[in-house]
Amino acid sequence: MNHKLSITELDLEGKRLFLRVDFNVPLNRMQVIDDTRIQAVLPTIQWAVLKGARIVLASHLGRPGGQRREEFSLEPVARHLSSLLNQEVGFADDCIGPEVRARVDALQSGELLLMENLRFQEGETRNDPDFSRHLGGWAQEYVNDAFGVVHRAHASTVGVPSILGRAAAGFLVARELEYLSRVRDQPEHPVVAILGGAKVSDKIEVIESLLGFADAILIGGGMAYTFLKAQGERVGNSLVEEDKLDVAEQVIAAARARGLSLQLPVDSVVARECRSEVETRVETSRISEGWMGLDIGPRTIKTFQREIAGARTLFWNGPPGVFEVEEFSRGTMEIARSVADSSALSVVGGGDSVTAVMRAGLGDSISHLSTGGGASLTFMAGGPLPGVEILTNK
Ligand code: AMP
Repeated sequence: MNHKLSITELDLEGKRLFLRVDFNVPLNRMQVIDDTRIQAVLPTIQWAVLKGARIVLASHLGRPGGQRREEFSLEPVARHLSSLLNQEVGFADDCIGPEVRARVDALQSGELLLMENLRFQEGETRNDPDFSRHLGGWAQEYVNDAFGVVHRAHASTVGVPSILGRAAAGFLVARELEYLSRVRDQPEHPVVAILGGAKVSDKIEVIESLLGFADAILIGGGMAYTFLKAQGERVGNSLVEEDKLDVAEQVIAAARARGLSLQLPVDSVVARECRSEVETRVETSRISEGWMGLDIGPRTIKTFQREIAGARTLFWNGPPGVFEVEEFSRGTMEIARSVADSSALSVVGGGDSVTAVMRAGLGDSISHLSTGGGASLTFMAGGPLPGVEILTNK
């Protein structure tokens, strides 16, 4: 990968710094209830403070659809950040306009201002050039530490840095890229990928890319049933994407042709309904009508664990079962434990798999927990990351 400009290469003293962060955190009654994403960018913010930048933080939160909606306000985040840093964090109740501009100009070295939700303005996701000029035309330096949005060409990820002609990566983005490229570009073999989650359609590109460098692909979750059906198995009422049966068949054929081990569940935990306190059974790949596969079964767990134990590089995206419901969470928890026990380089991406790892208290035993599910999948699939491509000094 080309050299990406790092925040450490910028002279920040006294400069107006546009710092794109990902503060898309869950809120409840105007309180931050999970601050993982805020914690993840603290090193970059602290560095900018230490180096004497005049720091303007920009983020989105949720999907307000280009309109001001108070439940998506970042104001509670400013308060939360202020208590984490033990330093005042100003809050501007918009991200453009003369009042914001006056607040930016009034900042002193080492001071922080958080702007209101970027997505209250529709120009953000449209990457509108006019909006970009209003949003960050004043910036003297630009740093992106919002890995969760680097696969999006928005005003705050592409528009503002294009105006400035120089953009640097924060510590989080740099770390994400380092780990993901260790998996994709220079992995130690065997490489084992574990994929789960609901849909094949979200992951087809990543599977195709993995066919090029993985030694084994273990498929669980809802997406496994499309593959099983493509092989002629009976899957009862399990989730199946009928329009992806052909693709699934092609993937199976390609894996076979390359001598790659593509493993599907040999048994499943099944139920008639996806909720707690229902009758469950373990069935082999022949699932009865009226029943659906909601977790990988005990034999599949063992087979997957054997593959995981032999890996030198592990990539995991998507839970192998409906882990939100206790009855169907065992597969996910067992996989989390095996990935944590492995001495391989392990990268876990995607909100749900990261949640599962954290819930099991295993976060410290994983080499890297990615903060961007979509971005990490796009990276693995070799797709464009416009917010990363722009991180250079032109
Ligand atoms: P994704 O966002 O595509 O990674 O999907 C995550 C979701 O997949 C989680 O909410 C899981 O509950 C769901 N999931 C996992 N296994 C299954 C399954 N067998 N059937 C239906 N949904 C599943």
